[in-house]
Amino acid sequence: MSKDRKPLTQLAQAGRRPEWTGMPGQPGAIVSPPVWRASTILYDDVAHLRSAAGRSTHERLFYGRKGTPTSWSLADALTELEPGAEGTMLYPSGVAAIACALMAVLNPGDQLLMVDSAYDPTRNFCEQMLRPLGIDTIYYDPTVGAGIAGLITDATRAIFMESPGSLTFEVQDVPAIAAIAREKGIATLIDNTWATPFFFPALSHGVDISILACTKYIVGHSDVMMGSVTATPDVFPRIQKAAYLFGQMTSPDDAWLAARGLRTLGVRLNQHQASALRVAEWLAQQPDVARVLHPALPSCPGHDLWRRDFSGSSGLFSFILDGGDERARAALIDGLAHFGIGYSWGGFESLALPVDPARYRTAKPWQAEGPLVRLQIGLEDPDDLIADLDAGLARFRAARA
Ligand SMILES: *Cc1c(COP(=O)(O)O)cnc(C)c1O
Repeated sequence: MSKDRKPLTQLAQAGRRPEWTGMPGQPGAIVSPPVWRASTILYDDVAHLRSAAGRSTHERLFYGRKGTPTSWSLADALTELEPGAEGTMLYPSGVAAIACALMAVLNPGDQLLMVDSAYDPTRNFCEQMLRPLGIDTIYYDPTVGAGIAGLITDATRAIFMESPGSLTFEVQDVPAIAAIAREKGIATLIDNTWATPFFFPALSHGVDISILACTKYIVGHSDVMMGSVTATPDVFPRIQKAAYLFGQMTSPDDAWLAARGLRTLGVRLNQHQASALRVAEWLAQQPDVARVLHPALPSCPGHDLWRRDFSGSSGLFSFILDGGDERARAALIDGLAHFGIGYSWGGFESLALPVDPARYRTAKPWQAEGPLVRLQIGLEDPDDLIADLDAGLARFRAARA
């Protein structure tokens, strides 16, 4: 398939192979690969069954757990969005993708360098699953950049990044870290859920393994859980083997919904970007707001790196209130008319979440002027969202007084 298409064109075309959209010997094709549901695959005879078992099962009908054209099409499309990628495996959640990718590159006795701003279930996996297996995790400052070299030991086998961090939005110097790791033969992984390959094709910046919680922007409609891991030719065989050994797969219905979401990823992200920037810039001017943590604003640590490396910003960011306590923050959030209160993000609807980064940080203690609120800016009219937050800040002031 031609590789010179721009991302919006790729999103419209990727994964629509003729063998998945047409019927052998018949002219014509449907637009999108349909839902192929399967457990058993039937063979013509014993010899046929035996020959299938001896071959690679990648993108071949073998048994339902190895997928069908519905999941292969989605995986192929995600691979195409990451230039330099060999392939993509799909998982039933983003956390499953993170866990399986880490298990694919680490063995007992190995050391993992983990960014201190990582999604907290990622930390939990390191502490509660990897550590008992004899794999040590060392947390590092998200702004460490090339200073990562000073943390590498003979036992370091993998470096995990999340850029920007999905609670506090520090942008990492991904190319610097990836270059140092590659020189030393250390695997690099990134949780790329915030930018997606549409705004940050991670493998082009030297990373080996790009992980998405597809639950967020790929699906885009808050109705499917899914994860993906996309990797370079050097690493992909290990990723694929671990996924097969752990029996990871996704239902064809979920893969079909995620593939449907992927077609509009570009227009959705461009709108999330524009609306979130409007809301963020408005918040930055409010006297009750101490800081807005949004990679496209200069107040965000690593803003210059974002400008250098990313082609856009998505709809998720945080702001820090100027003083106030838990009760005043709750007064702001509880009365919001257009923001839901709940976990996750990346859907079409706006969300507000109280977050306490100090609870998680170990490498670099979290210090802030007041409590933090994380916002997912959805596809509603940003003027409605701003008016809603304006009233929320008035409630915050009243509760604080
Ligand atoms: C939500 C999230 C995940 C996990 O995805 P699930 O599909 O909910 O398991 C991983 N990383 C980040 C940054 C997330 O926000």
